[in-house]
Amino acid sequence: MRILNLHDDIAAELRERREQGKRLSFRRSHMNRLMAGEILTSAAACWFRGDETFEEMESLIGITRKEITKHTKLILSADDLSDANTEPEFFLSVEGMCGITDHPKQRIRQLYELGVRMASLTWNETNLLATGTEGDPARGLTKKGKKAVEAMNELGMVIDVSHANEHTFWDILNVSEKPVIASHSNCRSLCNAQRNLTDQQIAAIAVSGGLIGMNAYGPFIAEEEEKRGARMLAKHARHIASIAGSEHIACGFDYTDFLAEYANNSKHDLSMAKDAQRFPEALSEEGFSEEEIRNITFGNAFRFLKENL
Ligand SMILES: [Zn+2]
Repeated sequence: MRILNLHDDIAAELRERREQGKRLSFRRSHMNRLMAGEILTSAAACWFRGDETFEEMESLIGITRKEITKHTKLILSADDLSDANTEPEFFLSVEGMCGITDHPKQRIRQLYELGVRMASLTWNETNLLATGTEGDPARGLTKKGKKAVEAMNELGMVIDVSHANEHTFWDILNVSEKPVIASHSNCRSLCNAQRNLTDQQIAAIAVSGGLIGMNAYGPFIAEEEEKRGARMLAKHARHIASIAGSEHIACGFDYTDFLAEYANNSKHDLSMAKDAQRFPEALSEEGFSEEEIRNITFGNAFRFLKENL
């Protein structure tokens, strides 16, 4: 079953290989693993930890874009999005905008011109624009952050709230005139991780017309290691459906199996891209209809991107 994945940390792996002086093998490391899971549309996330400069951001985004366009299609507009492609295609996303230290509107435009179509204002850090999940709970979106949100709305760059702290989350919801996405977050009421969403946040994303991408990263699925896997992630989807309706659920698997620093993370039946088809199976076991499953794995995100890119 065709899958659209709202978060895949491809750029981190490209950077890791470059730093180790290894030759890039985008087809071997990314096209093939995504194809094995039938993930045919994917957000290629460029991840910034909090200390990168704007030039470093531009450089990583540029490397990622170059690798994608060498091997497949880069999605830049709604017209580029297909539901008939047989090999993975990508759009560029940014995770964390720590490199923006001045002129937020102009910088956001520069990122847009580089091809970025979805972005979160912070990763977990505190920066000029906003406050991430590890920042001061009393600090939210800044004045410059508000300008960034306005610029993203104007340009058609989708706002990703996955790493925002709660204060920033609510500030963004107040300012944004467009629906927002939590590209890779689950439900806090089922797994008490800071990166997961409260029931109120889930409801607010749905009211905005947005989406929640279900995350296959074990510690966000369940606190108990033995519960981690596709069945439990399907229960997160059921919980969102009960609050907001299944039309607001998508996939944001956040696979990191190809990153050396995460190689020792706990493994479960959905922890690698090649396992992705376990998710629709588990949704079926959880009682979702065939049509709902097609929408959760692909249709909901496809429609959202058609309307918002
Ligand atoms: Zn993340």
